[in-house]
Amino acid sequence: MSGTFVGMPAFPEAARAAVHNATLRGNLRHATHTIRAKRARAVAELDDWPALREAGRRIKDHTLRHLDRYLEQLEESVTAAGGTVHWAADAEEANRIVADLVKATGESEVVKVKSMATQEIGLNEALLAEGIHAYETDLAELIVQLGKDRPSHILVPAIHRNRGEIRDVFRSEMGAWGRPAPEDLTDTPAELAEAARLHLREKFLRARVGISGANFMVAETGTLVVVESEGNGRMCLTLPETLISVVGIEKIVPTWRDLEVFLQTLPRSSTAERMNPYTSMWTGTTDEDGPRAFHLVLLDNGRTDALADQVGRQALRCIRCSACLNVCPVYERAGGHAYGSVYPGPIGAILSPQLRGTASEIDASLPYASSLCGACYEVCPVAIDIPEVLVHLRERVVEGGPAVRQGNKVVLKPARGHAAERAAMRAARWAFAHPGTLRAGQRLASRTRRLHPRTLPGPGRAWSGTRDLPAVPAEPFRDWWQRTRAGRDGAE
Ligand code: SF4
Repeated sequence: MSGTFVGMPAFPEAARAAVHNATLRGNLRHATHTIRAKRARAVAELDDWPALREAGRRIKDHTLRHLDRYLEQLEESVTAAGGTVHWAADAEEANRIVADLVKATGESEVVKVKSMATQEIGLNEALLAEGIHAYETDLAELIVQLGKDRPSHILVPAIHRNRGEIRDVFRSEMGAWGRPAPEDLTDTPAELAEAARLHLREKFLRARVGISGANFMVAETGTLVVVESEGNGRMCLTLPETLISVVGIEKIVPTWRDLEVFLQTLPRSSTAERMNPYTSMWTGTTDEDGPRAFHLVLLDNGRTDALADQVGRQALRCIRCSACLNVCPVYERAGGHAYGSVYPGPIGAILSPQLRGTASEIDASLPYASSLCGACYEVCPVAIDIPEVLVHLRERVVEGGPAVRQGNKVVLKPARGHAAERAAMRAARWAFAHPGTLRAGQRLASRTRRLHPRTLPGPGRAWSGTRDLPAVPAEPFRDWWQRTRAGRDGAE
């Protein structure tokens, strides 16, 4: 079973250990710089990239605005094609639905396609509690699962591992899960891939239940789409007798014409490929071809709350390409685990606090895990203005107060800095509402300006220690205006 993110500390604390880990930083720097350079070349090949990006943004916004209608259309289409649709309000309900469906087949093993939604709800752990073993079949997910690790990247969950570490995990852990790795396994990519292929093949051939997510769902026909690079997904989607797909409600697109846009932008943004090596699509069930039973679990788990937020809802446009992670200077140094969620990096910093709320230390700290440089917005293929949402969520944290731990409880309490900021804003509002008092205060400040300290006292000292305090003029602006301009050219 993979480790979980439950009880993670706030981002700065979690990131502190990561930034001191030179191996981790080296692994991340090498991987993110390689992917980002390839992505830039792949995107530059298309003259109409800005138009595709805008089309993606519009399609997603339109779909989200009419989500209720398209979800009902999808349910009708899937049902008409022989599938069964289940609605899950939260992680617990989704996990219970899936566990019941697996138990109904009499099986105690499932094979899985890489899926962010099932990681988000902790499906593997929930199934294990019911005596069902879930085997990850994506190579990077397999590395994470065997290493009892946590994913640190959306697309490359084991990005924090180098080849030597992966060889060690395969050698020591594979035997406990099935076919062991060869004794003389080296760290060459071809040998590592072959060891994983042989290990997984026996699981594919044995499994009678497959579990997947989906990159897209087409409402007009009830078709689900998974794109991938290794072919493991195609095996999971076609070999088992029962297929269960857990998909977030925002993954819907109205028509195949809409899908065409994302099948161009997603591969170039994620793996820097012109198209994905494997694009699997399925519509309900088909006699003597693929699974005989298909279940679609539509997952909310905080998405309708995010949808209600006029600024934050743009996070639901995300197609999980991970381009924003690969350009983020904070992610590159802090690594994915510090974000305390299966969604790391810039998208995680705006998605997790919306899906989970800001009541925990980690979620209240995530909107601050950014320098607001804007690189994430520049590369996002659906133009999510991540810095705008980060600032918006910071406001929400300040309004509600960040969460702090008191004994075993987490409570919302204004931090000192936030309380001081609020007090200053309240004082400013009062002063501007009383112009006579403001003028008297400005005159007093001008007359006593030689007596003013050069540094602020108390907690303000840290601020003024590196900055010059603004000089108070000898005469307030209003007095100067009155003396020199009043009565001229209609000025008062
Ligand atoms: S926010 Fe944009 S760039 Fe980041 S993963 Fe989502 S779609 Fe990709």
